[in-house]
Amino acid sequence: MQQAKCKLDGENYYVHQFAKLPPDEITEKRQHLTCSECDISAFYRRETRNGRHACFGSHHAEGCQMAAIQTTTDTNRPNQNWDYANNQEQRIVVDFAYGTAQTEEPINHTARPNQFDDSIYSGSGTVRRQNIVSHRRLSSILRDLIASPQFCNSNQILHVAGFGEATVSDFFMRFDNISNAHVGRFMGYWGRLTCAKEGDSHALWLNTGKPGDLSILVPFQLADALRSRFGIEDRGDLTAAGMFVLVFGTLHVSWHGKPYIEIADLCSITMCNPPSY
Ligand SMILES: [Zn+2]
Repeated sequence: MQQAKCKLDGENYYVHQFAKLPPDEITEKRQHLTCSECDISAFYRRETRNGRHACFGSHHAEGCQMAAIQTTTDTNRPNQNWDYANNQEQRIVVDFAYGTAQTEEPINHTARPNQFDDSIYSGSGTVRRQNIVSHRRLSSILRDLIASPQFCNSNQILHVAGFGEATVSDFFMRFDNISNAHVGRFMGYWGRLTCAKEGDSHALWLNTGKPGDLSILVPFQLADALRSRFGIEDRGDLTAAGMFVLVFGTLHVSWHGKPYIEIADLCSITMCNPPSY
């Protein structure tokens, strides 16, 4: 979106005005941006060298006019016809090997079907029930999490190597919903970034809010590979703002109370840009 309100000074900014503010002012004010219509917090993403314009974005409240403006230009929403309600028996096998591929690839929901063919004895005879299995890469799962509340709440069984099985609704946790109860738990954490920033020892921090909020820690030996894979430019910290991320990992809390998830390899993380602004 082209406009956002800064709670700090009460001003409405067009994105081209905001982009011209001194860097320190941008750093300060971007943490206080909201949608000027629905008042939900917003982010600022500056222009990128690959030609994406600076913009504001937000998870608008239902019915917000600014959201309507965003979605009219959205021609790339994935999976709109995928009927999760009628696919409760589908089993999803998370394929971490596929997680190493680029994120912008077509989705194939029907890959390798019918691997399970359960026979259930039900008194009156044997009922054959086919469980459709799909092998899904992280990028495809992330796009479903973004696009479909039905998917987020579904009881489809997810198989995660090294972890076991859980339902989709139990396994994935949005950043906004994380609480102390999740500390120490291995889950699929996902949500939106506010910025990426280099920290001590050249590690990269993918931040989801203000300094004390959850961050994803990318160790220095993985930072350059992650930047180049997902198009995060290293000249500043704002080109990752607004990107969605999904990370499979364990939530920790640092000695001074900051929640974080450290990734061990790039197979356990994926990032993508939202369908549109
Ligand atoms: Zn709004």
